[in-house]
Amino acid sequence: MIPHTATPLQTTPVQTISWQDELARAISDPRKLFALLELDTATLASVLPAHKDFKLKVPHPYLKKIRRGDINDPLLRQVLPIGNELAEMPGYHTDPLAESMANPMPGLIHKYHGRVLLVVSPACAIHCRYCFRRHFPYQNNNPGRQQWQRPLDYIAMNPSINEVIFSGGDPLAANDQHLRWLTEQIASIAHVKRLRVHTRLPVVIPSRITADCVKWLTETRLQSIVVLHINHPNELGNDVQEAVARLKSAGIDVLNQTVLLNGVNARADTLISLSEKLYETGILPYYLHVLDAVQGAEHFAVKDEKVKELQQQMLARLPGYLVPRIVIEKPGAASKLPV
Ligand SMILES: *Cc1c(COP(=O)(O)O)cnc(C)c1O
Ligand code: SF4
Repeated sequence: MIPHTATPLQTTPVQTISWQDELARAISDPRKLFALLELDTATLASVLPAHKDFKLKVPHPYLKKIRRGDINDPLLRQVLPIGNELAEMPGYHTDPLAESMANPMPGLIHKYHGRVLLVVSPACAIHCRYCFRRHFPYQNNNPGRQQWQRPLDYIAMNPSINEVIFSGGDPLAANDQHLRWLTEQIASIAHVKRLRVHTRLPVVIPSRITADCVKWLTETRLQSIVVLHINHPNELGNDVQEAVARLKSAGIDVLNQTVLLNGVNARADTLISLSEKLYETGILPYYLHVLDAVQGAEHFAVKDEKVKELQQQMLARLPGYLVPRIVIEKPGAASKLPV
């Protein structure tokens, strides 16, 4: 007879947290962040005013990759509000890419030939301090289901559009049911061939790549491409590698874009090891973006000469397919422009 206390088959299983719960428990209180990361609270005074404008937001899987006690950690720098953000710098604007000029209706941005960008979700799982959409009027760009009809009609009436990009915010902050519905609507427009998803969510909450997510991405006649946003090799933990493996084994191409950031990744060694690690993970480097002149991000800017030097070092030390295209965006240009 088994004694009452022996319950070997009933041990609590390791509870995996859903991505929605992970999103809900993201750290948004700077004091809590400082405590968790054992940071010197003397710096807190300069954090709080910047946090008011564009709030701190860091989910736990990303937080785990930040070194304790190091205010200069390259991952921490991407998310920590600092006093410099509040300085008004000449040449820095709230809409640096003049996106409002290419925003013919809520939810749709059409700047380049053949592809349109849909603002699928206004929310992000993380707040990146250098974000060029940190001042974007999301409240005017958050269509409900009925309001998607106008962007969908716009795509249907423009036969030149063969690719639709889910963007945001972060499109994967929307739920899979909605994303499946929107994908089906787009797939019903005959001239659209490809669906591209621009997201940082699988990097900051890897459990976002659920079986359902892989399903709507693959159970469509459209060719699906996922473009991640990874800036530093330390962001690529095992959890991210597993999420990418789920996409890759479903046959989805995975690319990456990086923003060149002073104090984060503007070193040849870092960029080279990022490319190497991306490829080990099954991701191809796509773009390395020169920072957009968005108000509040001037301290991340890298000088032109330095950009060219970094490009030369990458070309000299990496195979061609691991050198991302270094690009800059100019309002009104027909594409992103090579440096
Ligand atoms: C970057 C961007 C695209 C995609 O450009 P690709 O060069 O095809 O990657 C499309 N629309 C807008 C508005 C963009 O900013
Ligand atoms: S995830 Fe992308 S859109 Fe969201 S804050 Fe970061 S850079 Fe901006």
